[in-house]
Amino acid sequence: MNVVRTIAAAREERSKSQSLALVPTMGALHAGHLSLVQIAKREAPAVVVSIFVNPTQFGPREDYNKYPRPVEEDLAKCEQAGVDWVFLPEADEMYPPGAAEAVIDLPQLSVVLEGKHRPGHFRGVCQVVAKLFNIVQPTSAVFGQKDFQQLRIITAMTEALNWTIRIASGPTVREHDGLAMSSRNQYLSDADRQKGLAICRSLFLGKGEYTQGVRQTNRLLTSMQRTLLEQHLSIDYVAAVDPLTLKPVEVVQGPTVLAVAARVGVTRLIDNVVIGG
Ligand code: AMP
Repeated sequence: MNVVRTIAAAREERSKSQSLALVPTMGALHAGHLSLVQIAKREAPAVVVSIFVNPTQFGPREDYNKYPRPVEEDLAKCEQAGVDWVFLPEADEMYPPGAAEAVIDLPQLSVVLEGKHRPGHFRGVCQVVAKLFNIVQPTSAVFGQKDFQQLRIITAMTEALNWTIRIASGPTVREHDGLAMSSRNQYLSDADRQKGLAICRSLFLGKGEYTQGVRQTNRLLTSMQRTLLEQHLSIDYVAAVDPLTLKPVEVVQGPTVLAVAARVGVTRLIDNVVIGG
């Protein structure tokens, strides 16, 4: 498995295969990331994982500096998963000091939910994904449904700019107790991890009530909020939205995403489930 750190070397690797599937990550790889690698293998005979903690998607008070960077372990996991090559650039390679910044904005989709609580986050995500797409020139790229708003925005960006890259996705991989896997889970103390379980429990509760016939989302959201508040989580949002427009849904009549963002101590976690599909 080759590890390439420069754009020039990435272009050389790219020239070795006709079709290529990209799995963009920020590292600290877990089984969720590796499930996307398996999906990528079905997309194309060659798979590249990018590992880059992208500074432009972090807010000034967010965890860019302390974000975990276990590079050696990550490379071993990629090798074991059968990844063909890893793109592992430094920040200066992606954003040369003094270079002009290019911005891609999808205002209808990026000011709600995560975008409302993390201003500028999706501009940073679109910026880095656009650069990765242009550097790696994949035929497919694979993203997790755990970050469903990100998946929606990247799909919309790809369509809006008429890129030919196929955007594929994979379901959220969970720990045995239901907690959605996340590189940020390692910030949690044992006590906070227990409290954090309220996030997936609230989603499963909402889904359960839907299955039992509740269609009014205000009823679902009230039960979900109660579950979160019982554990004293600080809620950023509990929402029921249309998966395409991300607009609020009042009565479930078709696919609807139940989404939660909440803080356990200082750690901010997000999760979602789809109902009505
Ligand atoms: P990250 O490294 O957190 O930026 O995530 C890289 C990719 O992995 C994104 O497409 C995420 O949506 C995806 N991902 C993160 N956690 C999970 C999970 N638990 N299950 C499936 N995909 C995930």
